[in-house]
Amino acid sequence: RVVTAKTLSQQEEQLERALRPKLLDEYVGQKKARSQLEIFIEAAKKRGEALDHVLLFGPPGLGKTTLAHIISRELGVNLRQTSGPVLERAGDLAALLTNLEPHDVLFIDEIHRLSPVVEEILYPALEDFQLDIMIGEGPAARSVKLDLPPFTLVGATTRAGMLTNPLRDRFGIVARLEFYTPDELTRIVERSSRLLNVEMDQEGAFEVARRSRGTPRIANRLLRRVRDYADVRADGLVTREVADAALRMLDVDHAGLDVMDRKLLSAVIEKFGGGPVGLDNVAAAIGEASDTIEDVLEPYLIQQGLLQRTPRGRVATLLAYQHFGLNPPGDQAG
Ligand code: ADP
Repeated sequence: RVVTAKTLSQQEEQLERALRPKLLDEYVGQKKARSQLEIFIEAAKKRGEALDHVLLFGPPGLGKTTLAHIISRELGVNLRQTSGPVLERAGDLAALLTNLEPHDVLFIDEIHRLSPVVEEILYPALEDFQLDIMIGEGPAARSVKLDLPPFTLVGATTRAGMLTNPLRDRFGIVARLEFYTPDELTRIVERSSRLLNVEMDQEGAFEVARRSRGTPRIANRLLRRVRDYADVRADGLVTREVADAALRMLDVDHAGLDVMDRKLLSAVIEKFGGGPVGLDNVAAAIGEASDTIEDVLEPYLIQQGLLQRTPRGRVATLLAYQHFGLNPPGDQAG
């Protein structure tokens, strides 16, 4: 299912890196975020200043890490990468910050998972490029102030709502990444298939794109599996029919929902009468962490109009019933 960087095998990770666009011009879709960044990057370069801090948010696999790398490349500076849960102690962040060169990009993935002590250090660093840190312990402890070079923090998070207000307020540029349209994903699949030397016709590319949950990471992963299928069963050429057969084998249905998507929707429909049902009950019913449900599963189902989040809980929509060929409760027609 949706793969995070951590569970990817090393080989898959290498492939993912190889498919990553390097410049803003190669970055497909996300018109709003892209045009904002284009202007701010150019302005920062013109003035010879560090770019304002950037917050990128949106579901996994939509291109936040990719965009962070592109920003540093477009600015012509280094990128240092870390993540919220990795930075356990204040000293971990201090070490990174003091190693930055002027205008460098510091990329913190999962920034909503920073520990409070690390976040405290980050505030003055972001605001005044100052490091305020305690050295030593007990009576010998003293506070040390260091000047940092001006730098750009790029933070990524799946949920902007999980950030503390003071942290969110320190980002001058906030960009929300959206799910990609089938046409945008088709361009991504076509580009990846060229890079991977996959023989594929346009309809084959569209079929993979349309069934990839609006997510480039999933499109690239499905493309590799479809290629395997085509190599073994279809002389290597990916047509619409070949893509369809491969995707069925992978349990991706005609609408592009995978096993977990269907499990979630059918639990809401069959076990909870279509809802409203609370997140914790859904999580227990399908044996999935509520974080994963909120970050990974629900955003796409909501965007597709299959699920609704209401104040009283999750509700399956008419479309969800139709997806399974069911009649919604209270429907006398069938
Ligand atoms: P995130 O950090 O949001 O989880 P990534 O930046 O790691 O997502 O993107 C996952 C993969 O999807 C990347 O390896 C890249 O190949 C591809 N990708 C993401 N966004 C785009 C895009 N706009 N155009 C082309 N490929 C993309």
